[in-house]
Amino acid sequence: MSRYTGAVCKQCRREGKKLFLKGDRCYTGKCAFERRSYAPGQHGQGRKKISEYGIQLRAKQQASRYYGVQEGQFRKYFLMAEKQEGMAGENLLRICESRLDNVVYLLGYANSRRQARQFVVHGHFRVNGKKVDIPSYLLKAGDVVSIKEKSAGTDSFKAILEANGSRPVPTWLEKDGTSGKVITLPDRDQIAVPADEQSIVEFYSK
Ligand code: SF4
Repeated sequence: MSRYTGAVCKQCRREGKKLFLKGDRCYTGKCAFERRSYAPGQHGQGRKKISEYGIQLRAKQQASRYYGVQEGQFRKYFLMAEKQEGMAGENLLRICESRLDNVVYLLGYANSRRQARQFVVHGHFRVNGKKVDIPSYLLKAGDVVSIKEKSAGTDSFKAILEANGSRPVPTWLEKDGTSGKVITLPDRDQIAVPADEQSIVEFYSK
């Protein structure tokens, strides 16, 4: 499946919930879902009975869209999660949370996960002092993510840092200016994804 390049707000309307894909705009009255909370397209406002499979599929789509992860990668994460100790659904979300692009966004170094992904690909970030340009790079406890010194001095990064300066950082991360540390990987109650992980597990367990 190729990467979705259409209007991201349609994804929220399709999923019937806000997936917070556009940064600050998602928290304003300009949010497309606030104005049209029904699915896009001609039949978007028709009432549909959703099957059990449909519920599971939607849960999987909600989480993968929220993190910007494509189907193949998301399935790989599920297989990894199953092999880990504990609940597969919770493990799956923890893996997604530990992606470098997600952490860059959570630290306020980008306005959205999509932008964070772009910044990482363009080489603006270091992990433990070394350049990492792979958005799916999985961080572990103790890793330090920092904005490349040259990039941090640019007007665009200064504006992002200022705009997101008051955005709360999850307690499993610690931010210090242009660098942030993963204290520990998050528990389920520290993960804000608007999707039911049990339904995702059922989707992949068929
Ligand atoms: Fe668009 Fe964000 Fe609203 Fe979703 S939550 S519809 S991405 S503005």
